[in-house]
Amino acid sequence: MFNDKERFKASFLQRLEQSSGVSFENSTKRDHYQALGMMVREHVSTNWIASNEESRKGEHKEVYYLSIEFLLGRLLVSSLINLGVKDMVQQGLEELGIDLRELEKEEADAGLGNGGLGRLAACFLDSMASLKLSGYGHGIRYKHGLFEQKIIDGYQVELPEQWLRNGNVWEVRKPDLAIEVPFWGDVQWIDKSGKLTYVHEHAETVLAVPFDMPVIGYDTDRVNTLRLWGAEPAKHFPPHKDFMQYKRDTEQISEYLYPNDTSNDGKILRLKQQYFLVRASLMSIIRDYKKNHDHLYHFNEYVAIHINDTHPALTIPELMRILIDEEGMRWEEAWSIVTNTISYTNHTILSEALEKWSVELFKPLFPRIFMIIEEINKRFCKELWEQYPGDWDRIEQMAIVAHGYVKMAHLSIVGSHSVNGVAKLHTEILKMREMKNFYGFYPDRFNNKTNGITHRRWLVQANPELNSAISNAIGPDWVYRTEELKKLSSYANDSSYQQQINEIKLKKKQELARIIHDRNNLKIDENSIFDVQIKRLHAYKRQLLNLLHIMYLYNQMKENSSYKPYPRTFIFGAKAAPGYDYAKKIIKLVHSVAKVVNNDPVTKDYIKVVFLENYNVSLAEKIIPATNVSEQISTASKEASGTGNMKFMMNGAITLGTQDGANVEIADLVGPENIFIFGLKADQVMQYEKHGGYHSHDYYHNDRRIKKVVDQLTSGFFRDSFYDFETISDSLLMENDQYFLLKDFHAYVKAQENVADAYSDRDRWLQMSIHNIAQSGFFSSDRTVSQYAKDIWNIQPQQ
Ligand SMILES: *Cc1c(COP(=O)(O)O)cnc(C)c1O
Repeated sequence: MFNDKERFKASFLQRLEQSSGVSFENSTKRDHYQALGMMVREHVSTNWIASNEESRKGEHKEVYYLSIEFLLGRLLVSSLINLGVKDMVQQGLEELGIDLRELEKEEADAGLGNGGLGRLAACFLDSMASLKLSGYGHGIRYKHGLFEQKIIDGYQVELPEQWLRNGNVWEVRKPDLAIEVPFWGDVQWIDKSGKLTYVHEHAETVLAVPFDMPVIGYDTDRVNTLRLWGAEPAKHFPPHKDFMQYKRDTEQISEYLYPNDTSNDGKILRLKQQYFLVRASLMSIIRDYKKNHDHLYHFNEYVAIHINDTHPALTIPELMRILIDEEGMRWEEAWSIVTNTISYTNHTILSEALEKWSVELFKPLFPRIFMIIEEINKRFCKELWEQYPGDWDRIEQMAIVAHGYVKMAHLSIVGSHSVNGVAKLHTEILKMREMKNFYGFYPDRFNNKTNGITHRRWLVQANPELNSAISNAIGPDWVYRTEELKKLSSYANDSSYQQQINEIKLKKKQELARIIHDRNNLKIDENSIFDVQIKRLHAYKRQLLNLLHIMYLYNQMKENSSYKPYPRTFIFGAKAAPGYDYAKKIIKLVHSVAKVVNNDPVTKDYIKVVFLENYNVSLAEKIIPATNVSEQISTASKEASGTGNMKFMMNGAITLGTQDGANVEIADLVGPENIFIFGLKADQVMQYEKHGGYHSHDYYHNDRRIKKVVDQLTSGFFRDSFYDFETISDSLLMENDQYFLLKDFHAYVKAQENVADAYSDRDRWLQMSIHNIAQSGFFSSDRTVSQYAKDIWNIQPQQ
């Protein structure tokens, strides 16, 4: 089908007629997308079956990656690239008068995640398959992914996202493999041949139905599986309940992705989602395992289970339940298998984001699971007591269940053999501060795995021009071994190569300018500096610092008519959690600032502010290749790693950032001359947090630039909406500026001046840009996943 262009064209036309039931002349773009998608799926099916059969033999260890989020984006073009047929398909379609880039847009962007954590899971799937590892993703098939963002009058409005509206060509529903998931009810004990065994009775049961999607690796026959579970009514529904009510309660479980990635709301539903994922995944893993093994005593030698943050942490008590209640093991035997099977990644140290559930809520929903957690806690506290006799404070602090709450991070650490942070700095903070007591108790358990991104999507696919320029210079092998990108360094001072890189960047900027024109009806200067901050909206990410700087630039120009800054286009993209009012006000502020600076005759040719609505993976693929300056300006110590920073670096943008998360590692790799680092360091921030000593009022009163921009928030400067910004002003003054914006303001302004100076020296800038691309190979998720495979999962590549 994909062997050569002529055969491809013939198959495509044939498939198109079969699947759409109309002639080529009358077919639509959607018909074309559908036909090509089905061809890809059919093409990989043989390898998919072979990979599954290989797994079913049960000879090799496999890893299951459990995640409540998978932020996949579109899959068609990445599949074509991984199959090595994209160029041929593109030409074939072109000869039929079809533009692959248009057809691509017919695919819904699968947004089953909030941001970085979900996107990491998607990059890991791509890397596991490309490295020929048998690695399976398990997640939830949310009917509605992350909300679609509309901006009305500068305000965010959330609409339900409908990625399944036109079906999903990649998935296969497997009703025969459905699993029952029980909630509520009570626990009885029965005498099972002389042994006391607990059973969960009178439960309300929900059916988890798997939808399997192929995960195609790059240039390999390996096809892994992403299994997403959908909730459906079970055959035996509770007799006392109205069926319609039961159906609604059931289907709700896989209805919506939880849109808030910091705090907890909609608690029961959220908890149900977590157990639903865990129970269905474990039961299906064990069902497969038992096809080749008589018992589970060697389970951890063949199966590794990784939990992406604490959302799937119930895997720990659930696996205990299966081993004890169903397999009849003793506690100690079961515990050893559980802890040797499970590993855990911590993604945040923000205390409001550490999951905890009230016992009141938890216990009735999972009566048996709660008993097991209590027993785990009891035994753990006993161990602590033996090591630290009399140290009640420490034991109270470390307990899994305390003061009426179940602490999921504590459960995850105690119940696994590996706990990893996602960047060097983050792991150090975990060990030395947040999880200090746990590190003291389990020093060998903690390790670092700096995040990564798949260079196949974020460079080969998103920036084909740069991909060619790299391969033309250093050969194509870097796609298999991204460390080889380092060879590009020798081209950094080559002026003809610099020129090539310059032209590619300009082309990508022109493409983005067109998108901005189409979407926002705004003309932007493609020769201006494209200065970009795209990420979820959070106070700690400090989009506000960026805005205060823009307001300062505006004020400078208004006050001093001879001041002409290097022209800049400031581009923002961000979704705010629906209940996060502060974040929503910042979105409004972006629009208010834009309205002022984009329309003032003094500034409009020098400063433009653009907000691109509905930031998601597909939009990121368009923005990142066009970026000159990558804004990574979180308060030091708050951003665990960041992965946006890596995507930008790989596309030749220069980071303007704090010493936070993976920025620190980017700086180490490229050297201080190829990055703009500013502001407080993590240990300084933590010192202030602990001992005080920072007074934002001092900065407000002593720096007239700061006073002016902060006053403008509430002075009526933004005529349409000034009262909106009182809470923002209060956060900076009344609440003493928790994220140190005013403290870092001066350093940020200086760093921005250095950016402008560097940019006006074209050779220097292009040299910096090439050095960044050359050093970005370390941030391929292939490197990250290889480290997980070797150090945590203990699995080897197949074939
Ligand atoms: C990479 C990515 C993120 C993570 O960005 P950070 O800057 O690391 O927070 C979030 N959303 C989307 C759509 C992404 O592609």
